[in-house]
Amino acid sequence: MADASWMEYELFCPVCNAHFKQLVVLHKVPEDFDITPYLDGFVKNHDHKAWQEAQRKKAEAGGSKDEPEA
Ligand SMILES: [Zn+2]
Repeated sequence: MADASWMEYELFCPVCNAHFKQLVVLHKVPEDFDITPYLDGFVKNHDHKAWQEAQRKKAEAGGSKDEPEA
């Protein structure tokens, strides 16, 4: 009964210099659908500020597991 298929793509944002995961709904896309420009759109529309803020908060919340050298 799953008529919507989800694919998780790992995309690279050159602005954030990081990979991020993007869930993409592949629902009713044509068989010859070219996913590449579509994925490029996600990178282009990446909310760098929000993403970097979230990473910072995650690092703060995650404690000092990977504390950088002072
Ligand atoms: Zn970004």
